[in-house]
Amino acid sequence: MNKPGVILFGGSFDPVHRGHIAMADFAMRYLSANKVLFIAASRSPHKAAAAVAAGSQRLEMIRLAISDCPQWEVSDCELTRPQPSYTFDTVRHFRTQYGSVPLYWLAGADAVPELPRWYRIEELLDLCRLCILYRAGFKVPSLDELEGRLPPRHIDQLRKDVIPAPLVDISSTKIRRRIALGQDVESFLLPAVWEFIRHQRLYGYGDSAGA
Ligand code: ATP
Repeated sequence: MNKPGVILFGGSFDPVHRGHIAMADFAMRYLSANKVLFIAASRSPHKAAAAVAAGSQRLEMIRLAISDCPQWEVSDCELTRPQPSYTFDTVRHFRTQYGSVPLYWLAGADAVPELPRWYRIEELLDLCRLCILYRAGFKVPSLDELEGRLPPRHIDQLRKDVIPAPLVDISSTKIRRRIALGQDVESFLLPAVWEFIRHQRLYGYGDSAGA
């Protein structure tokens, strides 16, 4: 029998939303994994100038969102490492920590076109299984577009690791935009995360006339 694996779930989580939670939940059951690690990515300095939350605030929102799930944890390893920090470095770090335990990296279907440009992608694909999840607004990932851009054995493995997750039409960009416009976002967020955003007045909350 396979050893239960660990899911590495990297992202900006700016903010973490119900789409992320649904993805982690579905992937954990689909892969029979026993742990999910949410890894908050560092943001490039020019993005940090926009209306986005600080790393410590993004970590706190993840903590609040996953507080009821004992098998889910948050990692600050990408925020504390010298920059630039790549997915490859993160996976290598956890490969050392977890030895031969199966490791899965989750990504939404929107990540597919960029995959061949990821830093040391071929080594990364040898270190973990990269699982692409269906995402609302993006075509079902057939991965045909990767042919000729990655070795066939990696494409075959990626195809086997596509996860047909239910579609949840939410993105952090949409949430940030709606908050800035004073529009309702409550259904997209866990209650504690929405409370934190209001308390910290993140993403322009309270600045617009309608809020
Ligand atoms: P942004 O809109 O700021 O780009 P996002 O909503 O895509 O943010 P990220 O934190 O960048 O959220 O996402 C982390 C990972 O989760 C990415 O691989 C992304 O593709 C995936 N993801 C985010 N939301 C969804 C969703 N609703 N369905 C499927 N995958 C998702």
